Amino acid sequence: MVACLDQWRAGIVECDDTGLPDQIRDIESVSRLLHAVMLDAVAELDSRNLAAITGFCSTKRLLAGMLHLSATEAGTRVTHAAQLATRRILSGEVLPPVLPHTAAALAAGEIGLGQVRVITETMGAIPASVSGEQHEAAEAELARYARSFAPASLSKIGQHILAHLDQDGPQPREEPEPAAAAGELRLRERRDGRLGLEGFLEAEHGAAFRSLIEQFAAPRPASEGIPDPRTAPQRNADALMEVCGLARAAQGCPTTGGEPPHVSVTIGWESLRTGLGAATLDYGTHLSAAEARRWACDAKVIPVVLGGASEPLDVGRAMRTVPLSLRRALVARDRGCAFPGCDRPPGLCQAHHAQHWADGGDTSVENCVLLCETHHRHVHQTGWEILIHPHRVEFIPPAIIDPDRRPLHNPLRC
Ligand SMILES: [Zn+2]
Ligand SMILES: [Zn+2]
Repeated sequence: MVACLDQWRAGIVECDDTGLPDQIRDIESVSRLLHAVMLDAVAELDSRNLAAITGFCSTKRLLAGMLHLSATEAGTRVTHAAQLATRRILSGEVLPPVLPHTAAALAAGEIGLGQVRVITETMGAIPASVSGEQHEAAEAELARYARSFAPASLSKIGQHILAHLDQDGPQPREEPEPAAAAGELRLRERRDGRLGLEGFLEAEHGAAFRSLIEQFAAPRPASEGIPDPRTAPQRNADALMEVCGLARAAQGCPTTGGEPPHVSVTIGWESLRTGLGAATLDYGTHLSAAEARRWACDAKVIPVVLGGASEPLDVGRAMRTVPLSLRRALVARDRGCAFPGCDRPPGLCQAHHAQHWADGGDTSVENCVLLCETHHRHVHQTGWEILIHPHRVEFIPPAIIDPDRRPLHNPLRC
C-alpha cells in the first residue's frame, strides 16, 4: 500500500498541467471509496457491541477514543454508518443500507462526505407522513444530484424536494414594524474610486435592515465544488447591491428624465469587443474593459459606445427597445438565475448574452439567459458554455471542472 502511494506521489510531480486535475480527481475518488469501507467497519464495530464490552458508553465514544476524533466527527461517522452500511441483525441476516442510492454513490467514489451529510440531514427532515415510496424516490433524486452538485447547492435542492413533499411548509415569520426615522449615513468617495459608507441606524431600523440584508447575504450555493469564496463583509456589500437593484426596479422608485437611477459606462468600441483596456463611470471612476463587457452584456444596460474618434455610436439604441418584453420572456422560461443550483429570483437577475452583442449576438430569447450577478460574473470569467433550448438552458462546465463536460441544468427551476 505504502509503495503504491509513493509511486502515485511520484506521478503527481511528473504529470503535466492537464494530467494534474485527473490525478486529483483519482485521489479524491479513492479517499471516498476508503471512507465507504470505513463506514462498513464502523457499522461492524457497532453491531458487535464492542463499546459495551470494552467499557465505553457508546460506539461514538469508542471510535473517538480509538482515532482521537472529536465527539462530533465520531458521531457523524456512526450516524452515516447506520444509514449507508449494510446491516447485520441479531439473526445474522444482512439488510441493505437505509439509504441505498447514497451508499452506492459513495461506494463508487462519486460523492463525498459533504454530500452524504446533506443527504442524511435532508432525509432526516422528511415528515413521518410521507410514504415509503416517496421517501425512496427523494433519496434516489438526491443521490443523483449529489454526483454533480457541491453540498451547498445540494442542500438547496434538498430544501426544494422537501418543500414539494411538505406543501404546507413552516409558519411564515412576522417582520418587525419600522419605527420613526432617526439615523445617519455618510457617503465618502475614497481615493481609489470606491465609496465608503459610515453611520448608524436606530435599533428598530437596524433590526429591519439586518433581517432584510441577511436574507440576501447568505452564502451562495457552491457550483461544481467551488463554495462561495466571499467573506461575510463582502457578502453584506453584495447583498446591499442586490437590494438596491430591487429598489431601482420597483414601482415608485424616483426617476430622472423618466428613467430610473442608472449608471453610464463609457468605453471604446475596440475595448468593449476585446475586453482589453479600461472604461469610465459617471463619477469618473475607472473599471476594466472585461468588467464593462459584463455590464454591457445585460440587456437593461444602454451603452454609450465611443468610436475611433471618440464619437458616440448609436449601438445602444437597438438595445433600448427590447428589454421589457424580452425580460418577460426570459422570466417565463428561466424563472430566476438559470445557473445550476442557484435559487436567486428573477428580480435579482441580469440578462446575459450567450454570444455577446458586441460580437454580433442577438438580444433575443434564443441568445439571452437570466443570471444573478455572481453567476453572471462567473460565466464571464470562466469557461462555461451555455446552450439555450426553447424550454430550458444547459450549462457545460469547463474541462477543469468536468473532463467529460456533461451539460447541467438548474434543478431548482423544474
Ligand atoms: Zn453576460
Ligand atoms: Zn445565480
